[in-house]
Amino acid sequence: IKWTEGRGWHEAQLVPYAPLSLDPANMTLHYAQTIFEGLKAYRQPDGTVATFRPEQNAERFQASARRMAMPELPVDLFLAACDALVTQDRAWVPGSGEASLYLRPFMIASEVGLGVRPANEYLFVVIASPAGAYFPRGVHPVSVWLSEEYVRAAPGGTGTAKAGGNYAASLVAQAQAAEQGCDQVVWLDAIERRWIEEMGGMNLYFVYGNRIVTPELSGSLLPGITRASLLRIAEDLGYEVAEGRISVDDWREGNEDGSLTEVFACGTAAVITPVGSVKSARASWTVADGQPGEVTTKLRKALLDIQTGAAPDPHGWLHRVG
Ligand code: PMP
Repeated sequence: IKWTEGRGWHEAQLVPYAPLSLDPANMTLHYAQTIFEGLKAYRQPDGTVATFRPEQNAERFQASARRMAMPELPVDLFLAACDALVTQDRAWVPGSGEASLYLRPFMIASEVGLGVRPANEYLFVVIASPAGAYFPRGVHPVSVWLSEEYVRAAPGGTGTAKAGGNYAASLVAQAQAAEQGCDQVVWLDAIERRWIEEMGGMNLYFVYGNRIVTPELSGSLLPGITRASLLRIAEDLGYEVAEGRISVDDWREGNEDGSLTEVFACGTAAVITPVGSVKSARASWTVADGQPGEVTTKLRKALLDIQTGAAPDPHGWLHRVG
Protein backbone atom coordinates (compact mmCIF):
# COMPACT_ATOMS: atom_id res chain seq x y z
CA ILE A 1 0.00 0.00 0.00
CA LYS A 2 1.36 3.44 -0.95
CA TRP A 3 1.07 6.73 0.90
CA THR A 4 1.56 10.12 -0.69
CA GLU A 5 1.27 13.53 0.96
CA GLY A 6 -2.14 15.02 0.14
CA ARG A 7 -3.53 11.74 -1.14
CA GLY A 8 -3.11 9.38 1.79
CA TRP A 9 -3.12 5.59 1.56
CA HIS A 10 -3.86 4.11 -1.87
CA GLU A 11 -3.05 1.32 -4.34
CA ALA A 12 -3.29 -1.75 -2.10
CA GLN A 13 -1.89 -4.65 -4.09
CA LEU A 14 -1.35 -8.35 -3.47
CA VAL A 15 1.56 -9.40 -5.67
CA PRO A 16 3.94 -12.37 -5.89
CA TYR A 17 7.08 -12.08 -3.76
CA ALA A 18 9.75 -10.18 -5.69
CA PRO A 19 12.62 -7.72 -5.09
CA LEU A 20 11.76 -4.06 -4.59
CA SER A 21 13.49 -1.71 -6.94
CA LEU A 22 14.78 1.44 -5.21
CA ASP A 23 16.34 4.61 -6.52
CA PRO A 24 19.86 5.10 -5.07
CA ALA A 25 18.65 8.42 -3.62
CA ASN A 26 15.67 6.79 -1.90
CA MET A 27 15.47 8.60 1.44
CA THR A 28 15.19 5.39 3.48
CA LEU A 29 18.61 4.21 2.32
CA HIS A 30 20.17 7.35 3.79
CA TYR A 31 18.05 8.47 6.72
CA ALA A 32 16.59 5.16 7.91
CA GLN A 33 12.90 5.96 8.18
CA THR A 34 11.94 2.32 8.54
CA ILE A 35 9.63 0.64 11.02
CA PHE A 36 8.37 -2.93 11.24
CA GLU A 37 6.30 -5.45 13.14
CA GLY A 38 6.41 -9.20 13.70
CA LEU A 39 3.44 -11.49 14.37
CA LYS A 40 2.47 -15.08 13.79
CA ALA A 41 -0.46 -16.98 12.27
CA TYR A 42 -1.12 -20.36 13.85
CA ARG A 43 -3.17 -23.27 12.50
CA GLN A 44 -6.09 -24.00 14.81
CA PRO A 45 -7.34 -27.51 15.65
CA ASP A 46 -10.41 -27.06 13.36
CA GLY A 47 -8.12 -26.29 10.39
CA THR A 48 -8.74 -22.54 10.38
CA VAL A 49 -5.92 -20.04 10.80
CA ALA A 50 -5.67 -17.28 13.40
CA THR A 51 -3.21 -14.49 14.10
CA PHE A 52 -2.39 -13.55 17.69
CA ARG A 53 -3.45 -10.05 18.83
CA PRO A 54 -2.75 -8.35 15.47
CA GLU A 55 -4.60 -5.20 16.63
CA GLN A 56 -1.82 -4.75 19.17
CA ASN A 57 0.79 -4.91 16.42
CA ALA A 58 -1.26 -2.42 14.39
CA GLU A 59 -1.36 0.00 17.32
CA ARG A 60 2.34 -0.37 18.08
CA PHE A 61 3.01 0.21 14.37
CA GLN A 62 1.09 3.48 14.63
CA ALA A 63 3.11 4.49 17.69
CA SER A 64 6.35 3.66 15.84
CA ALA A 65 5.15 5.73 12.85
CA ARG A 66 4.43 8.75 15.06
CA ARG A 67 7.90 8.57 16.61
CA MET A 68 9.57 8.30 13.22
CA ALA A 69 7.55 11.14 11.65
CA MET A 70 5.82 8.70 9.30
CA PRO A 71 2.11 8.51 8.43
CA GLU A 72 -0.06 6.29 10.62
CA LEU A 73 -1.59 3.30 8.87
CA PRO A 74 -5.22 2.83 10.02
CA VAL A 75 -5.61 -0.30 12.16
CA ASP A 76 -8.21 -1.78 9.79
CA LEU A 77 -5.85 -1.44 6.81
CA PHE A 78 -3.02 -3.11 8.75
CA LEU A 79 -5.37 -5.98 9.65
CA ALA A 80 -6.79 -6.26 6.13
CA ALA A 81 -3.29 -6.44 4.64
CA CYS A 82 -2.20 -9.18 7.06
CA ASP A 83 -5.45 -11.10 6.54
CA ALA A 84 -5.14 -10.90 2.75
CA LEU A 85 -1.59 -12.28 2.84
CA VAL A 86 -2.42 -15.08 5.28
CA THR A 87 -5.44 -16.05 3.18
CA GLN A 88 -3.30 -16.08 0.04
CA ASP A 89 -0.56 -18.09 1.79
CA ARG A 90 -2.87 -20.42 3.73
CA ALA A 91 -1.09 -23.47 2.38
CA TRP A 92 2.14 -22.24 3.99
CA VAL A 93 0.68 -22.16 7.48
CA PRO A 94 2.02 -25.33 9.13
CA GLY A 95 -0.51 -28.02 9.97
CA SER A 96 -0.54 -27.71 13.75
CA GLY A 97 1.40 -26.93 16.89
CA GLU A 98 4.07 -24.36 17.56
CA ALA A 99 5.19 -23.90 13.95
CA SER A 100 3.58 -20.85 12.34
CA LEU A 101 3.49 -18.43 9.44
CA TYR A 102 5.53 -15.40 10.53
CA LEU A 103 4.33 -12.05 9.18
CA ARG A 104 6.64 -9.08 8.80
CA PRO A 105 4.76 -5.83 8.09
CA PHE A 106 7.05 -2.86 7.46
CA MET A 107 7.06 0.69 6.20
CA ILE A 108 9.80 2.62 4.41
CA ALA A 109 10.08 6.09 2.95
CA SER A 110 9.85 5.82 -0.83
CA GLU A 111 10.59 9.41 -1.84
CA VAL A 112 13.76 10.25 -3.74
CA GLY A 113 15.78 13.14 -2.36
CA LEU A 114 18.82 14.00 -0.31
CA GLY A 115 17.32 16.60 2.04
CA VAL A 116 16.99 15.55 5.67
CA ARG A 117 13.26 15.86 6.49
CA PRO A 118 10.26 13.53 6.79
CA ALA A 119 9.51 12.06 3.37
CA ASN A 120 6.34 12.79 1.40
CA GLU A 121 5.93 9.24 0.09
CA TYR A 122 5.92 5.90 1.89
CA LEU A 123 5.41 2.25 1.14
CA PHE A 124 3.79 -0.26 3.49
CA VAL A 125 4.52 -3.92 2.75
CA VAL A 126 3.81 -7.25 4.43
CA ILE A 127 5.89 -10.33 3.71
CA ALA A 128 5.49 -13.81 5.21
CA SER A 129 7.68 -16.78 5.98
CA PRO A 130 6.93 -20.16 7.54
CA ALA A 131 8.62 -20.43 10.95
CA GLY A 132 9.37 -23.75 12.60
CA ALA A 133 9.18 -24.37 16.32
CA TYR A 134 11.86 -22.22 17.97
CA PHE A 135 13.12 -25.13 20.08
CA PRO A 136 12.53 -28.22 17.92
CA ARG A 137 14.67 -30.36 20.24
CA GLY A 138 13.23 -29.09 23.52
CA VAL A 139 13.46 -25.74 25.28
CA HIS A 140 17.02 -24.86 26.30
CA PRO A 141 18.14 -21.81 28.30
CA VAL A 142 20.05 -18.96 26.68
CA SER A 143 23.21 -17.34 28.01
CA VAL A 144 23.21 -13.54 28.15
CA TRP A 145 25.82 -10.79 28.00
CA LEU A 146 25.10 -7.65 30.06
CA SER A 147 26.01 -4.77 27.80
CA GLU A 148 27.64 -2.08 29.93
CA GLU A 149 29.59 -0.43 27.14
CA TYR A 150 26.80 0.11 24.61
CA VAL A 151 23.20 1.17 25.20
CA ARG A 152 20.27 0.32 22.96
CA ALA A 153 18.04 3.28 23.75
CA ALA A 154 18.01 6.48 25.76
CA PRO A 155 15.20 8.62 27.20
CA GLY A 156 13.74 10.67 24.37
CA GLY A 157 15.20 8.28 21.80
CA THR A 158 13.50 5.68 19.64
CA GLY A 159 13.63 2.72 22.04
CA THR A 160 9.86 2.31 22.34
CA ALA A 161 9.48 2.27 18.54
CA LYS A 162 10.11 -0.79 16.42
CA ALA A 163 12.45 1.19 14.18
CA GLY A 164 15.17 -0.39 12.07
CA GLY A 165 17.84 1.89 13.49
CA ASN A 166 17.44 0.43 16.98
CA TYR A 167 18.48 -2.93 15.62
CA ALA A 168 21.37 -1.49 13.61
CA ALA A 169 22.68 0.17 16.77
CA SER A 170 22.43 -3.15 18.61
CA LEU A 171 24.54 -5.24 16.27
CA VAL A 172 27.91 -4.32 17.73
CA ALA A 173 26.82 -5.46 21.20
CA GLN A 174 25.36 -8.64 19.73
CA ALA A 175 28.75 -9.33 18.14
CA GLN A 176 30.43 -8.63 21.49
CA ALA A 177 28.04 -11.08 23.19
CA ALA A 178 28.96 -13.74 20.64
CA GLU A 179 32.68 -13.11 21.25
CA GLN A 180 32.01 -13.67 24.94
CA GLY A 181 30.33 -16.97 24.13
CA CYS A 182 26.84 -15.64 24.93
CA ASP A 183 23.65 -16.08 22.90
CA GLN A 184 21.99 -12.73 23.58
CA VAL A 185 22.53 -9.19 24.82
CA VAL A 186 20.77 -7.77 27.87
CA TRP A 187 20.42 -3.99 27.72
CA LEU A 188 20.67 -1.64 30.68
CA ASP A 189 19.28 1.86 31.06
CA ALA A 190 21.28 4.63 29.38
CA ILE A 191 21.66 6.97 32.37
CA GLU A 192 22.82 4.83 35.29
CA ARG A 193 23.74 1.66 33.37
CA ARG A 194 22.17 -0.16 36.24
CA TRP A 195 18.52 -0.97 35.52
CA ILE A 196 17.61 -4.01 33.42
CA GLU A 197 15.70 -3.00 30.29
CA GLU A 198 15.27 -5.92 27.90
CA MET A 199 17.04 -8.58 25.83
CA GLY A 200 17.98 -8.29 22.11
CA GLY A 201 14.53 -8.95 20.69
CA MET A 202 12.64 -9.94 23.81
CA ASN A 203 11.38 -8.60 27.12
CA LEU A 204 12.49 -10.08 30.44
CA TYR A 205 10.67 -11.53 33.44
CA PHE A 206 12.10 -12.27 36.90
CA VAL A 207 10.46 -14.98 39.02
CA TYR A 208 10.63 -14.91 42.84
CA GLY A 209 8.72 -18.04 43.78
CA ASN A 210 5.07 -17.06 43.34
CA ARG A 211 5.88 -13.43 42.49
CA ILE A 212 6.75 -12.40 38.94
CA VAL A 213 8.27 -9.04 38.02
CA THR A 214 9.00 -7.53 34.61
CA PRO A 215 10.92 -4.28 34.03
CA GLU A 216 8.45 -1.39 33.84
CA LEU A 217 7.99 0.46 30.55
CA SER A 218 10.78 2.92 31.15
CA GLY A 219 10.28 4.93 27.98
CA SER A 220 13.25 3.26 26.34
CA LEU A 221 12.23 -0.39 26.04
CA LEU A 222 9.90 -1.95 23.51
CA PRO A 223 6.40 -2.66 24.88
CA GLY A 224 6.24 -6.31 23.84
CA ILE A 225 2.90 -7.89 23.06
CA THR A 226 4.06 -11.18 24.56
CA ARG A 227 5.11 -9.26 27.70
CA ALA A 228 1.64 -7.68 27.98
CA SER A 229 -0.09 -11.02 27.35
CA LEU A 230 1.96 -12.72 30.05
CA LEU A 231 1.05 -10.07 32.61
CA ARG A 232 -2.56 -11.26 32.15
CA ILE A 233 -1.87 -14.99 31.87
CA ALA A 234 0.35 -15.06 34.97
CA GLU A 235 -2.39 -13.30 36.91
CA ASP A 236 -4.99 -15.75 35.57
CA LEU A 237 -2.79 -18.59 36.83
CA GLY A 238 -2.70 -17.07 40.32
CA TYR A 239 0.76 -15.53 40.37
CA GLU A 240 1.43 -12.17 41.95
CA VAL A 241 2.50 -10.04 39.00
CA ALA A 242 4.19 -6.65 38.99
CA GLU A 243 6.01 -4.20 36.74
CA GLY A 244 8.98 -2.64 38.49
CA ARG A 245 12.63 -1.70 38.41
CA ILE A 246 15.24 -4.44 38.67
CA SER A 247 18.93 -3.60 38.84
CA VAL A 248 21.90 -5.75 37.91
CA ASP A 249 22.68 -5.95 41.66
CA ASP A 250 19.11 -7.11 42.41
CA TRP A 251 19.57 -9.85 39.83
CA ARG A 252 22.93 -11.01 41.22
CA GLU A 253 21.94 -10.76 44.87
CA GLY A 254 18.53 -12.43 44.34
CA ASN A 255 20.39 -15.21 42.62
CA GLU A 256 22.88 -15.52 45.50
CA ASP A 257 20.31 -15.55 48.31
CA GLY A 258 18.00 -17.89 46.39
CA SER A 259 14.98 -15.54 46.34
CA LEU A 260 15.19 -15.24 42.54
CA THR A 261 14.09 -18.63 41.27
CA GLU A 262 13.84 -18.17 37.49
CA VAL A 263 14.46 -15.63 34.74
CA PHE A 264 12.96 -15.84 31.28
CA ALA A 265 12.66 -13.75 28.14
CA CYS A 266 9.57 -13.45 25.97
CA GLY A 267 8.73 -12.34 22.44
CA THR A 268 6.88 -13.37 19.32
CA ALA A 269 9.76 -15.43 17.89
CA ALA A 270 10.58 -17.78 20.78
CA VAL A 271 7.39 -17.16 22.83
CA ILE A 272 9.32 -17.78 26.07
CA THR A 273 12.93 -18.78 26.53
CA PRO A 274 14.61 -19.43 29.89
CA VAL A 275 17.73 -17.47 30.78
CA GLY A 276 20.36 -19.89 32.10
CA SER A 277 23.46 -17.80 32.71
CA VAL A 278 24.66 -14.21 32.85
CA LYS A 279 28.02 -12.68 32.03
CA SER A 280 29.33 -9.11 32.18
CA ALA A 281 32.76 -7.53 32.09
CA ARG A 282 32.89 -7.86 35.89
CA ALA A 283 30.91 -10.93 36.91
CA SER A 284 29.21 -14.09 35.73
CA TRP A 285 26.69 -16.37 37.35
CA THR A 286 24.28 -19.20 36.66
CA VAL A 287 20.61 -18.34 37.06
CA ALA A 288 19.26 -20.65 39.79
CA ASP A 289 20.19 -24.18 38.62
CA GLY A 290 20.56 -23.06 34.99
CA GLN A 291 17.67 -25.25 33.84
CA PRO A 292 14.22 -24.23 32.52
CA GLY A 293 12.15 -23.49 35.63
CA GLU A 294 8.67 -24.62 36.53
CA VAL A 295 7.01 -21.20 36.17
CA THR A 296 8.75 -20.54 32.85
CA THR A 297 7.61 -23.91 31.51
CA LYS A 298 4.05 -23.45 32.77
CA LEU A 299 3.65 -19.94 31.32
CA ARG A 300 5.16 -21.01 28.00
CA LYS A 301 2.63 -23.82 27.68
CA ALA A 302 -0.28 -21.62 28.79
CA LEU A 303 0.49 -18.96 26.17
CA LEU A 304 1.23 -21.41 23.35
CA ASP A 305 -1.94 -23.35 24.11
CA ILE A 306 -3.98 -20.19 23.58
CA GLN A 307 -2.07 -19.29 20.40
CA THR A 308 -2.44 -22.74 18.87
CA GLY A 309 -6.03 -23.26 20.01
CA ALA A 310 -5.15 -26.14 22.35
CA ALA A 311 -6.78 -24.19 25.22
CA PRO A 312 -9.69 -21.71 25.37
CA ASP A 313 -8.95 -18.07 24.51
CA PRO A 314 -10.53 -16.26 27.48
CA HIS A 315 -9.38 -12.78 26.43
CA GLY A 316 -10.38 -13.01 22.77
CA TRP A 317 -6.79 -12.70 21.58
CA LEU A 318 -7.08 -14.85 18.47
CA HIS A 319 -8.03 -13.10 15.24
CA ARG A 320 -9.59 -15.67 12.86
CA VAL A 321 -8.47 -15.28 9.31
CA GLY A 322 -10.52 -18.13 7.85
N1 PMP B 1 12.01 -6.09 22.54
C1 PMP B 1 12.50 -5.96 21.30
C2 PMP B 1 13.66 -5.04 21.10
C3 PMP B 1 11.96 -6.67 20.22
O1 PMP B 1 12.46 -6.54 18.98
C4 PMP B 1 10.86 -7.53 20.45
C5 PMP B 1 10.25 -8.30 19.30
N2 PMP B 1 9.22 -7.56 18.67
C6 PMP B 1 10.35 -7.64 21.76
C7 PMP B 1 10.96 -6.90 22.78
C8 PMP B 1 9.18 -8.51 22.06
O2 PMP B 1 8.01 -7.99 21.51
P1 PMP B 1 6.80 -8.92 21.06
O3 PMP B 1 6.40 -9.70 22.27
O4 PMP B 1 5.75 -7.96 20.63
O5 PMP B 1 7.30 -9.79 19.97
